[in-house]
This record gives sequence, structure tokens and C-alpha cells, in this order.
Amino acid sequence: MRQSQLFPKTRKEAPKDATSVNHKLLVRAGFIDQLMAGSWTLLPLGWRVITKINQIIREEINAVGGQEMLMPLLHPKEIWSETGRWDKADEIMYKLKDARGKEYVLSFTHEEIVMDLLRKNITSYQDLPVCVYHFSTKFRHELRAKSGILRGREFMMKDLYSAHTTEKGLTDYYEKVKGAYSKIFKRLGFNFRVVEASGGVFTDKHTHEFQVLNANGEDVIYICDSCDFAQNKEIFKGKVGESCPRCKKGKISEEAKTVEVGNIFPLGTWYAERMRMFFTDRDGGKKPVWFGSYGIGPTRVMGTWVEVSHDQSGIIWNREISPFDIHLIELPGVKNTEKIYEDLKAAGIDVLWDDRDVPAGQKFADSDLIGIPVRLVVSERNGDKIEWKERFSNTSKLLTLNEIINSFGK
Ligand code: ATP
Ligand code: MG
Repeated sequence: MRQSQLFPKTRKEAPKDATSVNHKLLVRAGFIDQLMAGSWTLLPLGWRVITKINQIIREEINAVGGQEMLMPLLHPKEIWSETGRWDKADEIMYKLKDARGKEYVLSFTHEEIVMDLLRKNITSYQDLPVCVYHFSTKFRHELRAKSGILRGREFMMKDLYSAHTTEKGLTDYYEKVKGAYSKIFKRLGFNFRVVEASGGVFTDKHTHEFQVLNANGEDVIYICDSCDFAQNKEIFKGKVGESCPRCKKGKISEEAKTVEVGNIFPLGTWYAERMRMFFTDRDGGKKPVWFGSYGIGPTRVMGTWVEVSHDQSGIIWNREISPFDIHLIELPGVKNTEKIYEDLKAAGIDVLWDDRDVPAGQKFADSDLIGIPVRLVVSERNGDKIEWKERFSNTSKLLTLNEIINSFGK
């Protein structure tokens, strides 16, 4: 992509009301734009990042048997009344009426919608298990719609739902998804913990949150210095310095600030009982399905990455989720950059080429702000070689075009 055509331009100043790093940098660099509190456009650069995040999630969820689909966002009141959530979740729901007075809610989650799909399509144990997911918008009336894109009133979620004939079926699948989530957050490059949290009204078991360590996070967790024990503030009963309740050998070493990027819930039979999703089991008996739900917020993931990976000059993406593989910069007077750009593209490398007629200093500043992990500089004094500099490092080296293409191995 030629940078002269990229929409929009970068900005020198952050919005006045921006307090968090992700808000300032993502807006300045042209990844997101705020329409109103908690409501964001994902601009072309931002959408590229989200597409990459979603693809990593998709690959790992498909690997545990998830089937992708797409559910509606406008839901009738009746379906939410069946479980009582029309009243119980009133505070976070955006409710509306049409011209005839019929009531609806904009999707804030999809358990009831999936349960309705199941009862229309599942009759026997032979039809189970079912594991379905989608990427779609969620609307939630968040009181604290700050923290940039970390807490939207309209945001993207990948939500997976699974239904099983037995509690063991659910528990086994839940562990599989926990493993898939760990792979996802590892591939994304996060320093995260799998944290026990309360089961809420649905289950006396714990749910699990995937929490990224970050000093500006809104959540607090307690971590053992020896095993993988971690609990959130709501359920942890001990103190820092005490011995770990799980392994007994280690100590609770830390009260850490974190950002929640994923959450998985073993919901049991609560939904199936209320929405009458009974299947016929092997023995002929009618039984409720065992249900689980599993969420990740890709837009929050993008913001969290910026919170943990930036410097004074801008964002520092990693190769997995960067909007482009290479930022190609041509200095004034250089003629052969277009050929280099075409060769890189032909090798399957995604290039942002700064072909603008602006001073070199501005090109470098924008490059640091946007944060693509590899910057190539073409200048007359380097002859046939091209300067390669990685965003997180201060040193650079000179390489031939072939060496560059080979190092991407695409
Ligand atoms: P939080 O505790 O942060 O309010 P939650 O526990 O209500 O979130 P879940 O219903 O578990 O959120 O949603 C699953 C995932 O969706 C979260 O782990 C997070 O990544 C994302 N998410 C939730 N709320 C928001 C929001 N307001 N803006 C952006 N992403 C969100
Ligand atoms: Mg949660």
C-alpha cells in the first residue's frame, strides 16, 4: 500500500480527553476514531490489526472443533424474558421499541440466541455436542466507557458456545478451550495468566479469565511465585506473602494489575432448564444440555497490545498482528523504490511504502508512531543495499533485497 493513499493521515496531537496510552497512540497513528464515548471506527490500519487477531483466534477455535457462523444483533424481548435476563441485565442492555411498540434489545451476548437455535435443531444425544461461534458486535451500556478502546459501549467479541450431553462432556471441552485460549494469547505475544474467578449465578464452579499483566489495568489478581495458581480479587481470600493455597510450597508473591482479554464459563444446565432444551438420551430419558460460553474481545486485545508495547515515539507491533510486515521508506532523490516495493509484494510480503513527498524526519516520526516491526530505508548513499531497522531496536544493518525477502521466508 502506498502511504500517500492511506486514510487518514497521522496526527501530532492526541485528543484532549484521551487519558490512556492506547487511546492516544491508536488515534494519533490513525488506527481508530471515536464517534462518541465508547464507540469507535476501526480505520484501515486498525481493521488490518483486528483481521490478524481474528485469524489467530479463528485458527485455534477451529482446531478445537468450533464452527463459525453469524448471529443477529437485534433480539426480540421475548427470548430474553425466558431466562429472566430481560430484567436482570437491564443496566447494561440497550433496549428499543419499533414504531408499533414492539420491544427489542441490541445484542450484549448470545447465550439465549444459541439456546433457541439448539432447541429448534437438537432432539437426540446423537445431535450433540455442538460447538459454534461468531465474531460480532456487542452493545453494552458500560458506565465507565473510558480507557480508550479497552472498554467500548459497542465492541467486537468472538463468542463460542458449546452444548454437551453430560457434565463430563462439558468439563472436557472447557479444558480444551482453555488450552486453545492459552495458545491464542501466546501467539499474540502476551504475558498473561489464566486466573480463577467466581462462577456468578450460574455455577458453583470457577470460571477462568485470561488476564494480561499491565500496570494500568483495571483488574487485580494474586499470583503464586512457584505454581500457576492465580485468582482474581473477588475470590482470593489470603494475603500477599502467605503460602500458596494450591502448591503449599510457593508464596503469593504479587498483587498484580491486569487487563481481562478473555473469559470462559462452564454454565451447566441453567439455560437449558429455563429454555426447555431437552434432548433424548440413550436410555430414552429427557435431559437438559450442558452448556458453556467462551469470549475474547479482539478490539480490547488490540488496545491491550498498545498498552504493553509502546515507547515515547509510538506503538511497537509484533509480526503476528502488525498491520504490515514492512514499512518501506524512500529518502529524497531515490528512484528505484517502486521496483523494491513490487518485488517485496511479489514475494508475498505486506508493505506500507512511504511514497509521500515529505521531509525524511516526518517519515521516520510517522514510522515510529505507526510501529510496523521492520523499517527499510532506501537511500542513495547505501547503493544496492537497503537499511533494515527493527522498531524495538536502535541498531540497523545493510541487507540486499534477496536477503530481506529470504528472511521473511514467505
Ligand atoms: P469486564 O469485566 O472487563 O467488564 P466482562 O467480564 O463483562 O468484562 P465478558 O462478558 O466476559 O466481559 O466478555 C468477554 C470478553 O469480551 C472480555 O474478556 C473482553 O475481552 C471483551 N469485553 C468485554 N467487555 C468489553 C468492552 N466493554 N469493551 C471491549 N471489550 C470488552
Ligand atoms: Mg469477564
